Amino acid sequence: MTARTTIARSAIALTLVAGAALAAPAAHAATPVDPSAPGGATRNDGDRTAALRDAIVDGPAKNVILLIGDGMGDSEITVARDYQYGAGGHLPGIDALPLTGSYTTYSLNKDGSADYVPDSAATGSAWATGTKTYDGAISVDIAGQGHDTLLELAKANGRKTGNVSTAELQDATPAVQAAHVGGRKCYGPDSVKQCGTDLLENGGKGSISEQILDTRADVTLGGGSESFEQTAKAGAWPGSTLFQQAATRGYQVARTAADLAAIGAADQTSPVLGTFTTGNFPTRFAETTATVGGADAPPVTCTESADRLDSSLSLAALTRKSIDLLKSDKGFFLQVEGASIDKQDHAANACGQIGETIDLDEAVQVALDFAKADGNTLVIVTADHAHTSQIVDSTPPASLSIALETTEGSTMKVSYGTAGAGGSQQHTGSQVRIAGYGPGAAYVVGLTDQTDNFFTIAGALQLNRSLPALSAGATLTAPDEVAPGGTLTITAAGLNGDRQVNGSVSASGGTTRAAAAATISRTDVIDGGVAVPLTAPTEPGEYTVAVTGEQTGKALSVTFTVAEGAPTTPTASPSPTAPAFALPPSSGDNGGSLALTGGTIGAAALVALALIAGGLLLARARARRA
Ligand SMILES: [Zn+2]
Repeated sequence: MTARTTIARSAIALTLVAGAALAAPAAHAATPVDPSAPGGATRNDGDRTAALRDAIVDGPAKNVILLIGDGMGDSEITVARDYQYGAGGHLPGIDALPLTGSYTTYSLNKDGSADYVPDSAATGSAWATGTKTYDGAISVDIAGQGHDTLLELAKANGRKTGNVSTAELQDATPAVQAAHVGGRKCYGPDSVKQCGTDLLENGGKGSISEQILDTRADVTLGGGSESFEQTAKAGAWPGSTLFQQAATRGYQVARTAADLAAIGAADQTSPVLGTFTTGNFPTRFAETTATVGGADAPPVTCTESADRLDSSLSLAALTRKSIDLLKSDKGFFLQVEGASIDKQDHAANACGQIGETIDLDEAVQVALDFAKADGNTLVIVTADHAHTSQIVDSTPPASLSIALETTEGSTMKVSYGTAGAGGSQQHTGSQVRIAGYGPGAAYVVGLTDQTDNFFTIAGALQLNRSLPALSAGATLTAPDEVAPGGTLTITAAGLNGDRQVNGSVSASGGTTRAAAAATISRTDVIDGGVAVPLTAPTEPGEYTVAVTGEQTGKALSVTFTVAEGAPTTPTASPSPTAPAFALPPSSGDNGGSLALTGGTIGAAALVALALIAGGLLLARARARRA
């Protein structure tokens, strides 16, 4: 089966008209019906000045969708457009965004000097954190210091969040939103050498996979199940695989298209972790091989790959699913990556990279459809860095090349000149395109730097970028009195800048009651709140609960008294400054087949709490789904 059927010029025109309906009028140009005639190839259409004025809409935006074509330089965009839609055609998604600019992508060496050709880790970190860094860094700067990411900040500001990729989720572009490690290959707990001091057992924040669970986006979809099959060696969940840990922490885990289809809601109580391949997704088009002199051979057309995943797992379908799960009155931030434009460019696989570019373009169309209907969504489409492929006129004498027959029947020669046969083609250092639609999109116009994209998006979403400020008003409440051995719940609220807390229970006033010290193990903060069920000590007296936010250091404490005759299950006294933490509504009937360890999904807001009771007093308490 051919991947695209040759279509008559009139059909091209119809396609373009349909595509044009997606975006603001400014984006749409005339359809070049006769490029040989004067003006026949022009793309401007109508009153461009008025159209551009209409396209510039003040922020803020309720939602932001950031779509990344990994390695999608201008050359990769043009190769895909020429092949699929013809030289005068339009990519119906990417080319429909009305406001465009270019941005610089250079990275830094660790000494701070310029590195003119970046990798996906440094470039992703640049827009995720607004900070230039070295190749290989995942949202840490050249000194190794972590910086908060757009996804983390959006979550702390109460927005819903999503992270989607056709790569393994540990790959650089999805990782930069959810993790902070010094080396991009620190995938899972078994990546001992690659992680080094980032491992939990070495006092670090853990591997990328473990940090993805900690960051707890509402929706995380991609490949890379292999690392989640690994077993944690330290931290709060040692001895369980990361998939088991995810289920224990309330995640809805999806491994197949059917699993994902069965999920009807996603929130902080029941976030979605979907991994559909062990590594990267297979590509849309079957592989082609460039060779030295290859462009002299008869031109080829691309064919569908037999390995392509179910259509419900295409990047466009995952984008649509994510939007459905994220849209609410809270607003959302969603990052979507088409990862293998880069990977197939590295492999000098022309049809591979074209198919992935078209795949991303279809995801862009989904995002634009939503944004147009919603009216309050900023869509940004860009790349992380440029890449090797070049459209050339004649077959290059020494570099790899291939000839393709495009939709309009012409031959396009594509050259890969930065590595030999079998080698990995290199990234390149040229600026890349950034395009936007919706409120705040004007910030992409002209020449910007990749780090500007962080501020464009944070500004559009009006994010408070100080996590400590977001947790400053937090409160901790406990019932005044409880009977010896009774059950009480300690409730924190307003810990919006924190994702986890740690804590302890001790006898007040430094007394030496047997009840001395107990530890409240690491607990996930859900929508700013934590509800910790405790079994009261049996020895009467006053006790102090101390809780500290892991990300901000916010320290909270509260006391309760164990007394004969007090209620055995007291309710917390109401707090004047913070509402009692309430369970979000149930996410519906989506458990069952999705749980890896059936029955072990702890009900979420009451995240499983291990009390390492110093012997006597505090029994481990654990809430379960009713
Ligand atoms: Zn690459």
